[in-house]
Amino acid sequence: GNATISVATILAESAHRYPDKTAVIWAGQTGPQSRATYGELWRDAKAIAGALKARGVGRGDRVAMLVPNVPDFPKVYYAVLAIGAVAVPIHLLFKRDEIAHVLRDSGAKLVVIGAPSLGEALPAAMEVGVDAVSILLPEAAKDLAPIPRLEALAAEAEPIVRQEAMGPLEPATLLYTSGTTGTPKGAVGAHFSLVEQVNVSLIDLFDMRHEDVVFGGLPLFHTFGQTCVLNTAFRKGATIVMLPKFEPTAALTAMAEHGATVFTAVPTMYVGLLAGARAGAPKPQLRYAISGGAPLPLAVLEEFSETFGATVYEGYGLTETSPVVSFNPIGREIRPGTIGVPIWGSDVLIADPDVDDRIVELPRGELGELVVRGHNLFKGYLGRPEANAEAVVDGWFRTGDLATMGEDDYLTIVDRKKDMILRNGYNVYPTEVEGVIMRHPAVQAAAVFGTPHPKHGQEIEAAVVLKDGASATPEELRDFVKAKIAAYKFPRTVRVVDELPLGPSGKVLKRELTRVYSEEQQPAGV
Ligand code: ATP
Repeated sequence: GNATISVATILAESAHRYPDKTAVIWAGQTGPQSRATYGELWRDAKAIAGALKARGVGRGDRVAMLVPNVPDFPKVYYAVLAIGAVAVPIHLLFKRDEIAHVLRDSGAKLVVIGAPSLGEALPAAMEVGVDAVSILLPEAAKDLAPIPRLEALAAEAEPIVRQEAMGPLEPATLLYTSGTTGTPKGAVGAHFSLVEQVNVSLIDLFDMRHEDVVFGGLPLFHTFGQTCVLNTAFRKGATIVMLPKFEPTAALTAMAEHGATVFTAVPTMYVGLLAGARAGAPKPQLRYAISGGAPLPLAVLEEFSETFGATVYEGYGLTETSPVVSFNPIGREIRPGTIGVPIWGSDVLIADPDVDDRIVELPRGELGELVVRGHNLFKGYLGRPEANAEAVVDGWFRTGDLATMGEDDYLTIVDRKKDMILRNGYNVYPTEVEGVIMRHPAVQAAAVFGTPHPKHGQEIEAAVVLKDGASATPEELRDFVKAKIAAYKFPRTVRVVDELPLGPSGKVLKRELTRVYSEEQQPAGV
């Protein structure tokens, strides 16, 4: 076909329409690097694109990037996309071996290494033999890295004039899953899916306005930050406030200082902001907030709305679905505790989770696996025929999430299939138990997980973080839950901990809790 599309158009068009509008603010930073207009970002992106081409990168080549949430992220990201190459943003917490895996698996032609990642990324690039350039490295520190600085290459290169016209299904991004279920796999996203997602979001879902100031605390290497913060805000010509590392007090200060109106985040960040506000940090008044990526406990949603005056919209999605599948959309009833209704063009079915080789739709209301098809589906995992055959059956993508769909299409996520705890033959869904623990006034955050048990198969355990200055004993917390939930569901062991282990995108790592506490002796008598 002749039709073309490019994710890079998102920046190119906004630079054309609103050249002098502030696109990004780097919170806590002063000087010329601390903010950039749409015009400046596109000018720099075109120069970087020229530098990438001069280095031999062309259409279809993969360019890995380890760049934090600062204005350089969009410059490099859109530069890569503008020359028709594939952006491979790597999780910033990945260590040398994980980075080497991504570089090898993606067949990266070049890696752009942001100064903060040099220690882990440079040895990985050398091991794999990938051409590497640095970014964000002060001139004075260039001896640290015997590789060229991208800024210097861009200053010498011939900038590109305009973005490449891409076929709709040509690959744009290769996003590595964080490896909850094994070695990280690379999910390929096409230009069409990524752009369509943004357009649907702006038309139907978020009430994002040109005047909005969006807080960008979500990592931009992750699908949620990339699509729902970066591409959506840029498509609208809004302003993004960026913080390289999410920290509640710094986030609240930045939001208040720059007049943030929209907060888009994963639930652990909601919990963080509430703790920050209780500790006396500024309380910006928000127009609305979006949550996704993990279940948002109702107790957190309610306290957040009250504290920040914001309506909270919860949505649901995955890396493999660009990411949004369903949402509590503008103009329809918001139902807290649900993930709303399927977005335009995303068909959702609840399928029998025990039938693997075909899709068997369950009657409405029954609990099953959420499967989806539509414009938002990825192209597949790079070089993983078996994983692809398992993930996509008859054109439907199996999410691995257990959900129900009500008469009016509202969807409720019950839990991930793989997080379900099976104790004495009873299914226990950690999300439900967490929702109950979160109702305890002393509790700031909670995670429920299973550990192997010789008699019961699995045991139900909870790790709980208390609010600053609050106190509660494990027994008290256990009894609190026990009084509110069927006996087979309450956590037999509650541990009060200082913090929960978080993955690179800010989600709680349950497998880590299971691992750590499986090795410990089971407390006697339970
Ligand atoms: P990995 O990258 O290792 O696969 P991951 O499964 O967290 O990690 P993502 O694509 O980041 O990968 O997240 C998708 C998952 O997040 C969904 O499958 C679902 O389990 C969870 N999720 C997303 N939104 C929600 C929500 N609103 N409620 C409950 N769970 C959610």
